[in-house]
Amino acid sequence: MTELHSPAHAAALDAADPLPTLRAEFLIPRHADEEQAYFVGNSLGLQPRGARAHVEEVLDKWAMEAVEGHFTGQAQWMPYHELVREPLARLVGALPSEVIAMNSLTANLHLMMVSFYRPTRERPAILIEAGSFPSDRYAVASQIAFHGFDPDTDLIEIEPDEPGGLISMASIERAIAEYGPRLALVLWPGVQYRSGQAFDLDAIVRLAHAQGAVCGFDLAHGVGNLELGLHDSGVDFAVWCHYKYLNSGPGAVAGCFVHDRHARSELPRFAGWWGHEATTRFRMGPQFVPTPGAEGWQLSNPPILGLAPLRASLDLFDRVGMRALREKSLRLTGYLETLIRARLADTLDIVTPADPGQRGCQLSLRVIGGRGLSGRAAGRDLFDYLARNGVLGDWREPDVIRISPAPLYNTHGDVSRFVAAVEGWRAA
Ligand SMILES: *Cc1c(COP(=O)(O)O)cnc(C)c1O
Repeated sequence: MTELHSPAHAAALDAADPLPTLRAEFLIPRHADEEQAYFVGNSLGLQPRGARAHVEEVLDKWAMEAVEGHFTGQAQWMPYHELVREPLARLVGALPSEVIAMNSLTANLHLMMVSFYRPTRERPAILIEAGSFPSDRYAVASQIAFHGFDPDTDLIEIEPDEPGGLISMASIERAIAEYGPRLALVLWPGVQYRSGQAFDLDAIVRLAHAQGAVCGFDLAHGVGNLELGLHDSGVDFAVWCHYKYLNSGPGAVAGCFVHDRHARSELPRFAGWWGHEATTRFRMGPQFVPTPGAEGWQLSNPPILGLAPLRASLDLFDRVGMRALREKSLRLTGYLETLIRARLADTLDIVTPADPGQRGCQLSLRVIGGRGLSGRAAGRDLFDYLARNGVLGDWREPDVIRISPAPLYNTHGDVSRFVAAVEGWRAA
């Protein structure tokens, strides 16, 4: 019998996998004279080989056509965002009119809250998870203060009730019921960035709406990772970035979903000319008339150079389909979990839920000990050792190593290298 984590066993799993890897479509950073085992797609996804051609196309068009590039030839800039609209809608389970690629994640979160966080004296509160991503907490607290309310009382954070910082559905249900009449907005992550816990989005929307609250999602770690059905979930809005699992480059243009029932919303919004009704935008009139759907929240003409890599990325998601990709992700992360439990149980504690339905590809790991170290010191030591050996995870304070096998380009072979490297650290 081959060892579970042996390179031969991993190679056999890769060869037999129903979804052959698209690794060759990516540029994999090198370490010494081999490719890195890169598990940081949850932070910055790798560059699709196709990205360069799309970027160069824009540069060439700019060089040769300048302003005419907006209106002439292939991939015109005026309707350029339409090139990503349908693939993006497929990716998140939305109507094409419900999605838009624009701005950055935190900027989109603010724009969405301008319209969908409408606090009143009776109902001023926003509910989020304790330990949320700092930018989200800053955004939410500043919106509460902007409306003249007090984040100390009106920002409600649900504390984890399970080991490892996990939050049970029962606890979410209790909190939404308890604070219900005061809740203006429930803002929840698709996948929690530190613990890797994935949530039942449909259930959270139902609970929030039943209390009369608006519901929004931050899908920074959910998009390109989970199979999403945003339209059917009924969520009011969602925001995400494209540089993590969407592999569209550092600071890539972000994404935004506005449910169809708000397509012609008359709620206040911060307006810009690109959100104006497209057919009459260039009459340059003084009155803002929003274009229906998510596009109506655009402010500016989009950064075409920023959108170009997203096209290459979405081509790959479209080629595979999110369902098949998620199934591969379950196999890869399942293999990682199996190996950790079989071979590293004395070294690593898995924080992320064991139920595959409650996680995406990421496993968050706490280092129990090794090499005479324990806790955070052991964690930092292992993390540095891995990096020196070409195995890249990332570190989240105070003591979590995140390892995210991205199913587009990570392989069972990468997972086996991770396990062998941890064993090497433990033995050294
Ligand atoms: C990555 C991430 C961000 C980053 O915000 P930017 O506006 O893209 O810089 C925000 N929130 C969450 C939950 C994230 O995971």
